[in-house]
Amino acid sequence: MYLCGATVQAAPHIGHIRSGINFDVMRRWLTYRGYDVTFVRNVTDIDDKVIQKERDLGIPWWQIAYANERAFNDGYTVLGCQPPTVEPRATGHIPEMIEMMQALIAGGHAYAADGNVYFDVKSYPDYLELSNQKLENLLQPAGEGETGKRDPRDFAMWKAAKPGEPSWQTPWGSGRPGWHLECSAMAHKYLGKGFDIHGGGLDLIFPHHENEIAQSKAFGDDFANFWVHNAWVTLSGEKMSKSLGNSVLVSAMVQRWRPIVLRYYLAAPHYRSMIEYSEESVREAEAGFGRIEGFIQRVVERCGAVEPAPEVPLAFAEAMDDDFGVPQALAIVHTAVRQGNSALTADDKENAVARLAEVRAMLGVLGLDPLDPQWSGEDRGEDLHGVIDSLVRLVLDQRQAARARKDFATADAIRDQLGLAGLVIEDTPSGARWTINNQ
Ligand SMILES: [Zn+2]
Ligand SMILES: [Zn+2]
Repeated sequence: MYLCGATVQAAPHIGHIRSGINFDVMRRWLTYRGYDVTFVRNVTDIDDKVIQKERDLGIPWWQIAYANERAFNDGYTVLGCQPPTVEPRATGHIPEMIEMMQALIAGGHAYAADGNVYFDVKSYPDYLELSNQKLENLLQPAGEGETGKRDPRDFAMWKAAKPGEPSWQTPWGSGRPGWHLECSAMAHKYLGKGFDIHGGGLDLIFPHHENEIAQSKAFGDDFANFWVHNAWVTLSGEKMSKSLGNSVLVSAMVQRWRPIVLRYYLAAPHYRSMIEYSEESVREAEAGFGRIEGFIQRVVERCGAVEPAPEVPLAFAEAMDDDFGVPQALAIVHTAVRQGNSALTADDKENAVARLAEVRAMLGVLGLDPLDPQWSGEDRGEDLHGVIDSLVRLVLDQRQAARARKDFATADAIRDQLGLAGLVIEDTPSGARWTINNQ
């Protein structure tokens, strides 16, 4: 699988990470089905927007790109995405791009002009087949600095450097990669002549993926067998964008919602369906996931630990095999939860345990099993610490109030109670502090 990854000019919002989650679910499902999945997700670390940021902030482009690449990876990780097999950066693959351009020029598919290298779209008869457009209807105005085009619809594979811009040497002068070329070059390097799935957001179908196809097929690659495009997270029907500010950044969202709830929110709708973002819709997802978690908790409390079943139920597998039908698959999960709850009510422990084993197997391939070690690591420990801290502070406030009204008996009783719960309370000039008694 090749997934067009982040352009790292800013930190990710939940719309960016949705793509990562959708393709993480696909990869997990294919792996469950016995495929040996090689998953490539590139990083576009140089482009117009990164260069613009360099000018605006006065910080080198590579520092901006790397800081945001880390923010993206933090976002993928906190929302439970497995790391890709390889995560290549555009600027690490300039020699591969030069080789591809040389071959395309030699084959009559590309030409150099004023330090730019353009792809000749009329040289590739199947151009625009993916987006089902006609070349004669295509109005493509030349981009800034794109001089010397033979046909305005030809696209830039390589852009001549403007003064003061980062650039790399090529046989045609110094410049930098056009966005489309990097994906053709890196897909070829890591996946060879042909591979199975090429993915990305809906907005990439044209021009990015049409241009990738033209380059790679004219180069002689078979390229992708399947094209898979995820829909967006929208706000009032519009694609979520940077202009929304910081409130929907992943780093801010995980302060307000548990990461596993956010993953459920973003993974549950079909990857081809838009998600219209609202606080209310996240709250509904929280309630839906809460019903699953409540069941898991009740069974574990009454029956002890239950391992996931070795296989998922047939109906779940059929849903996932049908274009990764997560909504139908989750309906099977919720049915098993209801059956399991009825079994608990009827004190049929054997049945409840069997349902939980199924539920865990199904949630596991969606990356949503709350008992999986991936969700019970340090982050969760910190969450719990935060919860305990607020609770203890609440009790300590009551103790302070008791002292203020000179009710020392109550104040001492509260202190003793906290001691019995395993906490040591220390009075300091800046107020009471608590620690866990390790003795
Ligand atoms: Zn791409
Ligand atoms: Zn792509």
